Amino acid sequence: MNLDLQLLKPGAVRNLKVNVGRLYDFTDINLNIRVLRGKSEGPTLFVTAAIHGDEINGIEIIRRLFQQKELKKLKGTLITVPIVNIYGFNTRSRYLPDRRDLNRCFPGSPNGSLAARLADTIMKSVVEHSTYGIDLHTGAVHRSNLPQVRAQLDDPKTMELAQHFGVPVILNSNYRDGSLRQAAAEKGVPTLLFEGGEALRFDEKIIRIGVRGILSVMKNTGMIEPDKKNKATNIGDSYVAKNSFWMRASESGVVKKIKKLGAHVQQGDLLAMIASPYGNSRVALRTPHAGIVIGSSQLPLVNRGDALYHVATFDENVDDVWETLESYEDGFQEGYRPIF
Ligand SMILES: [Zn+2]
Repeated sequence: MNLDLQLLKPGAVRNLKVNVGRLYDFTDINLNIRVLRGKSEGPTLFVTAAIHGDEINGIEIIRRLFQQKELKKLKGTLITVPIVNIYGFNTRSRYLPDRRDLNRCFPGSPNGSLAARLADTIMKSVVEHSTYGIDLHTGAVHRSNLPQVRAQLDDPKTMELAQHFGVPVILNSNYRDGSLRQAAAEKGVPTLLFEGGEALRFDEKIIRIGVRGILSVMKNTGMIEPDKKNKATNIGDSYVAKNSFWMRASESGVVKKIKKLGAHVQQGDLLAMIASPYGNSRVALRTPHAGIVIGSSQLPLVNRGDALYHVATFDENVDDVWETLESYEDGFQEGYRPIF
């Protein structure tokens, strides 16, 4: 499909269906693209979700985004694809029916595998029409992630966008081969990846943070008006994690987690105890470096070698990072307060 934005009337929302294939029984599979063209000119932002079919928070983030009154005065165009991996979404799976990870199959090709064709459609229908993009993800099944932006920060434009999103933790993340983010960057479309929460769950706080982050990017790039009461932009401090590491279980068994997601840990701190289910042995899991827990397994069962915690390390004092994180999260504790 050739998405001709000029054919959309200014101020109009259009729901477009792009056929991407059929099931065995010939049921048509359509990609649903929702486009809002602003009344005046401006950049084009794409927002995609559920490229991993079971990562559903982003679908709700996009649905809520369209309810925001700020979009009435949109300058430019917003292109959204709430469910990129339609097949995986309907089967509650990360993958496509052929077991491929769609986010390793970009930019795809029109004559390739099911995944390659779907990737190609996203590139031609969405990415190539955009100035920049945001791809929404969550942790995998039974893993929860602290809200964070991942981006290739060597690129100054991408770094600027990442800071506009306004979450406290930005993870410098090299491109993954075959990812949407990499393919978009190669087309000159800087793209952020927002991570938060876990697969197959709606996490209210993460959803609000996601909506707020996208609006913040739009405000800072001139797509929507800054809030009248608070002309200064809304961004809090962001800290860039230069590195991160995984803490893996040194033994199989049952887990008692001591540190939670978002915890601030110092070198040598006890993260978790792993015990035999029969009560005759236990081992401690201690962190070798200071940092912030940005990802955590939610399952109290482990095999030796399983990743239990994802810890980000910072050049700055971890206390400062943690304080920013605390005050940021407090803003989401007592119901929704419009912060802009
Ligand atoms: Zn994902």
